[in-house]
Amino acid sequence: MNNPRLETQCVQAGYVPENSQPRVLPIYQSTTYKYDSAEHLGKLFDLSVPGHMYTRISNPTVAYVEEKINALEGGVGAMCTSSGQAANLMAVFNICQAGQNFICLSTIYGGTINLFAVTMKRMGIQARFITEDMTDQEVDALFDENTRLVFGETIANPALTVLDIERYANLAHRHGVPLIVDNTFATPIQCRPFDFGADIVVHSTTKYMDGHASVVGGAVVDGGRFDWAASGRYPELTQPDESYHGVVYTRDFGKAAYITKARVQLMRDLGATPQPLAAFLLNQGLETLALRMERHSANGLAVARHLAKHPLVNWVNYPLLPQSDQYAKAQKYLKGGASGVVSFGVKGGRRAAMKFMDSLRLAAIVVHVADARTSVLHPASTTHRQLTDAQLEAGGIGADMIRMSIGIEHIEDVLADIDQALEKSQQA
Ligand SMILES: *Cc1c(COP(=O)(O)O)cnc(C)c1O
Repeated sequence: MNNPRLETQCVQAGYVPENSQPRVLPIYQSTTYKYDSAEHLGKLFDLSVPGHMYTRISNPTVAYVEEKINALEGGVGAMCTSSGQAANLMAVFNICQAGQNFICLSTIYGGTINLFAVTMKRMGIQARFITEDMTDQEVDALFDENTRLVFGETIANPALTVLDIERYANLAHRHGVPLIVDNTFATPIQCRPFDFGADIVVHSTTKYMDGHASVVGGAVVDGGRFDWAASGRYPELTQPDESYHGVVYTRDFGKAAYITKARVQLMRDLGATPQPLAAFLLNQGLETLALRMERHSANGLAVARHLAKHPLVNWVNYPLLPQSDQYAKAQKYLKGGASGVVSFGVKGGRRAAMKFMDSLRLAAIVVHVADARTSVLHPASTTHRQLTDAQLEAGGIGADMIRMSIGIEHIEDVLADIDQALEKSQQA
């Protein structure tokens, strides 16, 4: 198949069976692999031949899913992780260590803010948060010789700001560092960050990629275009790795240096490995990703339009509403759809917001977004509860904000549920 389209890759990429092999991706439920000679295993440990050593580092079921995700993003290699949090930790820690720092958009997922601002701080790594309204000069001033990367989310969770990928890729590259983009909400169906200059893509596959809310997982994808050697800032990639007696990732693995190191060093040492069964379930979700994103995005836009003219709604945030301040970027970066996530403020503030949520029948209150079922959440009192008011504001999250994740149900049923709950939100 020459250049199959994304819809085709979702179904066909990764596992391709040979004569009389199982049609469906098998679950290789094995921690261990068998070798014909001690010499062959020695070569595996030297990383001089490809193959599986131990399921903490790689597994055939997981590897096929990694191949599919890599194909969808257009990278040179992908690594699945046990969660999106693990993917973000490994993506950053792979090229940033104690005493170093990185630049990060403040409009990102609350869990990632905790990881970066609290836990990674304890590891000696400093996240320098920036806002979108800062000028290039203001951002430039935050870089120093210890800055290792720039980080942002394609569609920020839950602020729904759209990352100006080209702008931040240029800023990062001017300083000789890569741009890492969390592409969880957009998925490669709506945006492929590598096409706009991003260098590394991360995912919480727990969301749309799985799509059924059945398995937590993450992925790191290497775009393979960042020149680590030319940058001169990454001895961990360009100098011998003492834990592999002398492997030099850029010399020995070329364009796949970053993702190889992430796997053979970080996954080996940190062990945030996805289980083969989890990878199998993720693959089932990926098969319908393109189809689901089409419906999620159509439904999301329909709900946003409906809320925008509803008298009981103060404001609506959806990147592809023409009145959104994100609209121009959304048109540029999001191919025809902005996912099913919509946020808005109900008239009557926090109390009415709670009442609205309690009155929904079809949409369920869950701590989750981006699956087939319509769901609703109040970020300020739940997922983002640990954040200070200042962090909430910097993240674009108000106390009255309702975040709805519109599923793939019939749009009329979703709208009817929202309408009846809005009516009830105003009752005493
Ligand atoms: C959910 C989420 C994460 C964290 O992923 P988990 O799979 O829950 O660990 C990271 N980034 C974004 C944008 C998310 O929505």
